[in-house]
Amino acid sequence: MKNTNYYEVLGVETIASEGEIKKAMKYHPDKNPDDEASEKFKEISHAYDVLSDPEKRELYDRFGEDGLSGGGGTSMSAEELFASFFSFGGMGGGGPSRQRRGEDIVKHFPVTLEDLYNGKTTKISLQKDVVCPSCHGKGSKSGATSKCTSCEGRGIKVAMRQIGPGMIQRINTVCTTCDGEGEVIKGNKCKKCKGVKTIEEKKKLDIFIEKGMQDNQRIVMQGEADQEPGVETGDVILVLKQKPHEKFERQGNDLLTEVSISITEALCGFSKVLVKHLDGRGLVINHPAGEVIKPGAVKCIVGEGMPQYKRSSDKGNLYVRFNVEFPPDMWITPEKIKELEALLPKRKVEDPSTYPEILDEVHLTEGNFSEYGNKKARSGNVWDEDDDDDDDDDDHSLGCNPQ
Ligand SMILES: [Zn+2]
Ligand SMILES: [Zn+2]
Repeated sequence: MKNTNYYEVLGVETIASEGEIKKAMKYHPDKNPDDEASEKFKEISHAYDVLSDPEKRELYDRFGEDGLSGGGGTSMSAEELFASFFSFGGMGGGGPSRQRRGEDIVKHFPVTLEDLYNGKTTKISLQKDVVCPSCHGKGSKSGATSKCTSCEGRGIKVAMRQIGPGMIQRINTVCTTCDGEGEVIKGNKCKKCKGVKTIEEKKKLDIFIEKGMQDNQRIVMQGEADQEPGVETGDVILVLKQKPHEKFERQGNDLLTEVSISITEALCGFSKVLVKHLDGRGLVINHPAGEVIKPGAVKCIVGEGMPQYKRSSDKGNLYVRFNVEFPPDMWITPEKIKELEALLPKRKVEDPSTYPEILDEVHLTEGNFSEYGNKKARSGNVWDEDDDDDDDDDDHSLGCNPQ
């Protein structure tokens, strides 16, 4: 095979899922049970062989056909492949055919940071297809079938559609008479499943969220997806989605939280429950007097971050960012100011010779800078510090209220 595009051969997108690739193979218009020895068939089955194997597919995606030459190994022969897909064809070849695998069910599963910190056992209820227990997936008592006359047993119908002058597209559609099975049930259909072979069932599944699991981590429940007779059942895959937390931010196994302390605590030290943790514990900090905490300072509490997955006694770090709260207005009376000034470092005396030539006396009024930011965000022009400095003074009115 030289320079063939396997995706084109199978007629799938390069981002096609495993399921889509399998479907493309099953319903390929050029795959005919009567010419399994043809070149075209070999090409299709080779393309499928590569694209359906995640390892080979990755090699092919990265290095093209060259990436595959070293491979070798256990790929199915074209004949085996063929048999596995056209089990109704009655062709030779013998040997057990590899079972087709059903689609996986992938679901997002929202979890709180508390769940990921403490671990949790929970349940989900799932509506799924199970093989009909009454007819054991045969669709009728006897299970006898006859070839679908509508599609002549192929399960698909090929339609031609003109998509432009002289351009005709072949479209495959699943045969609606037999629902793609290629055969229809003979005689009385099973009463329970009405010949569908599967019934819908509600099932509860136990979910174990382990300590330290990450956002986007997958929990795989093998063989819990929709059942179909003669098909290996796929998995139910839950993708954990960590909900935003109002107090903690997570980065890997580290946590960041913001706490507010008063200016007195910042200057004179404190001894108190600084953080209420995700398991409800209070973390007490004794911070000595004299070690001033500046506004915005970040401190680290070693070993109080998230537990490590599968090694939950090892924990990341907890980082604390300090917000220093100033006293409310008019707290400092004129008499107190003198006392305070005596305690605080002396004012810097400015050298008048460094002043600019022109001095204007102006006034401070209340201002609301965030209003400015919101206004920009609303107009679709989001305030962003990293933005290029475009100094066109179009709409730079600050929320400034003279009083
Ligand atoms: Zn049934
Ligand atoms: Zn049919």
